Amino acid sequence: MSRPENADLNKGSLMLHRPSFCNGASLRRWFAAGASFGLGTLMGLHSALAIPIYTEGVERAIVVVPDQSSQATLYAARELQRHLNAATRGSFKIKKESELIPNDPAKPIYVGDTVAARKKGIPVDSLEKNEFAVWSAPEALYLVGKDDPTAEAPVDDRLAMGSALAVYDWLDRSVGVRWLWPGEGGMVIPRLGELVAKEGPMVKGKPAYSYMQLRLYFRYHVSGKPSRYGRSDSLQDRSFEANSEWMLRHKILRTSGADNYYGHGFGDYWERFGKEHPEFFALRADGQRGPVDTRTYLTQMCVSNPELHKAIVKDWLATRTPESPWINACENDRRVIDPFCMCEVCRSWDVPEAKIAVQDNPWHIDSRPKAKIDPYESVSMSDRYARFLLEVLAEAKKHDPNAKVVGYAYSSYSDPPVNVKLNSDVIIIVVPPYIYPLDKGSEGAVRKLWDAWKATGAQLAYRPNDFLVGFTLPYIYPTQLGRDLKHFMDNGMIAVDLDSTLGMWGTQGVSIYLTARMLDRPDLSVEEILAEYYGAFGKAKDIVREYVAYWEGVTAKCDTNFQKAINGGWGVMMNAGHKIFTADTYKKGFEILARADEATKDDKVTNQRIAFLRVWLEHAELCTQAIEVYQSINPSSPTEDDKARLNLVLNRLHKFREDNEKFLIGANWLFLQRNEPWRNWKG
Ligand SMILES: [Zn+2]
Repeated sequence: MSRPENADLNKGSLMLHRPSFCNGASLRRWFAAGASFGLGTLMGLHSALAIPIYTEGVERAIVVVPDQSSQATLYAARELQRHLNAATRGSFKIKKESELIPNDPAKPIYVGDTVAARKKGIPVDSLEKNEFAVWSAPEALYLVGKDDPTAEAPVDDRLAMGSALAVYDWLDRSVGVRWLWPGEGGMVIPRLGELVAKEGPMVKGKPAYSYMQLRLYFRYHVSGKPSRYGRSDSLQDRSFEANSEWMLRHKILRTSGADNYYGHGFGDYWERFGKEHPEFFALRADGQRGPVDTRTYLTQMCVSNPELHKAIVKDWLATRTPESPWINACENDRRVIDPFCMCEVCRSWDVPEAKIAVQDNPWHIDSRPKAKIDPYESVSMSDRYARFLLEVLAEAKKHDPNAKVVGYAYSSYSDPPVNVKLNSDVIIIVVPPYIYPLDKGSEGAVRKLWDAWKATGAQLAYRPNDFLVGFTLPYIYPTQLGRDLKHFMDNGMIAVDLDSTLGMWGTQGVSIYLTARMLDRPDLSVEEILAEYYGAFGKAKDIVREYVAYWEGVTAKCDTNFQKAINGGWGVMMNAGHKIFTADTYKKGFEILARADEATKDDKVTNQRIAFLRVWLEHAELCTQAIEVYQSINPSSPTEDDKARLNLVLNRLHKFREDNEKFLIGANWLFLQRNEPWRNWKG
C-alpha cells in the first residue's frame, strides 16, 4: 500500500501531453478569427514533428496489437478504436503486428507488449504491475503496459491491465475525453476535425495509489474464483461490467491486492479457537468469554493476550510474501451488544478519562434504553487497540523486520490514542464516525480527526461508509467531499476503499465523478474537476451547476439533529428520506432541469445527458414515495389498504426501472435491492 512516487512523472507527462494534440480545425478557426496566441505556443505547434492520426477526413493510423494478444490487450485496443472512431467519425482498423504491410503510409499506434515496443527500447519487462508507458515517437505512437494473460478486462481489478491504462491516460490527457458515468451517454468525446500526435519523449505513469476501490457488488466477482458475474446477460451483469469499465477508465484498481490483508480479521477465530482457547476472546459481564449469540464472527477479542498475538502472527506467517508484509490485526465488526473485553489486563490498557468524541456512532445504531448502557462504554478503546497493534507488530518483527500491521480506526476506537505513540509500520484504516453532510460550523471535523491520527506516526488509509447513506436520492455534498478528500490526499493518504457505491449515477454522479477523478488526477483541483463535469452539459452547464448546488442545499438539511431524531444511523435516508426530499423539493428540481432541457434542445447529445438526470430524478422521487408509504404501514401486519398502497407505488417503481433500463444500466442493482427497506415485502 505504498504511495507510488509518480508525482514527477505525472508532471512530466502533462508537459508532454497537454500540447501534444491539437484540434487542427479549431486552430484554423482561431487564426481566422484573429485570436492571439503566446509566441511560445505557436512556435511549439509548428516546430514539432507530428504523427497524423486523422486528417482531411481520412484515418492516417492503424491500431496494432501483438500477434499473441491477451484479452486485456485486445480490450485496450478496442477501447482505443472505439474512442478514435467517436472523436473523428472515422473507422479505425486493428491489426496484428505481423499483418502490417512494409512502408504502409498509415502510422501504427502500438497497444500492449509488441515486438516494435521492445525494439524501440521500451522496458516492458521492468514495468511494475499497472505501470504503463506512452511514447509519441516520429514513426509511431506506443501505448504500452503489461497485461495479465488471465485478466478478464474490465472486471478483474486486481490483475494487471496496464495497456488499457496507457490508452485511457492518453485519451484523457491528449484527446480530452471525459467519462462522466458508465455507458455511452456518459462518454464525453471531443469531435475533432483533425487529430495529430506531437513527438515527445517516453513518459511512464501508474495509478496514483496502489490500492483504490469504490466497492461494487460485494464478492460478486473474484479473480480466479467462482463468482456471480458472467452467468447470464442479466441487468446485474451488464451493470457490473459497465461500472467496472468506468472504474478502469479512471484507473480505480486494487493493484496491490491490499484487501487480502485487512478487513475484520478474526471472523473464524471462535470456530477455530473457541474450544481450545476461550481466553483469546472478550470477557463478558456475565463472566463468560466469547460471542453473545450465534453471530460468532462479531465476537471481540481479548487483545491483551500475548498468546492471541502469537496466533495472529502464526496465521500471517503462513500466507505472507515479501511484497505483502501486512498483518491483518483489524478487530471483528460488532453491534453495540458485542462487548469489548472486560478483563483486568485489557482494561488496564485503557485511559478511562479519554471519552469517545462522537458518542452516537452512526455505524452502530444504539436503540437500547440509556439505563441499560454500562457507563464504561463511553471510554475510548483507542489506547487499548493501539497497544494491541504494537504488540502484534513486535511479535511479527521477531520473524520479519519489514512486518507492517494493519488496524482500523472504527467503532469505539475511532479517535486517536491518547498515550500510545504509533509508527510508520502501523497502517490505520480510518472509518470516520460521521455522516456527511457535516453540520455548518463543524465542516472540519473529519479533517481534524485525520490530522490527529496522522500525528500518531501511523500511515493512513481512508475507508468511509458514506456512499451508502444517500440510498437512491439526490443526496450530495461535493463541496465537503472534495475539500476533505483533497486534504487526505495531500496529507499522507496511502490507499482508499470507499464502501460502497449503489451506482446512482444520475442523482449522485457528481460525487462519484469527483472522487474518481481526484484519485486519478491528483494534479487537478476540485473546481477544475467540477468544471469538467458541468462542461459536459454544454449550454446548460451553469444550470446543471445550479442544479447540483440546489440538491447540495437540500442534503444539508440532513444535519446531526435530524439524524439523531431519526436514529437511523447510516440508514437515515432509507428510513426518512421523504422528510428531507419532499414533493416540493422534487418539483423545484424538475423545474431547473426543464430549463436545462430548453437550453440544450438544439444539441441532441447534450440534451440526452439532461434526460439522463431527469430519469434518475424521477426514479428518486418514486423511491421517496415508496419510503413514505412503507414507513406509514406496519409491514408485519398490513391492512388491505396498506397492501394496496405499497403495492401500487412499488409496481410503479419496478415498471419505471424496466422502461428506463437504458439510462439506469449503471446502478448497483444487487446491492441496491439489499438496501431497500421493502426488500422482504412479499406483497
Ligand atoms: Zn482481555
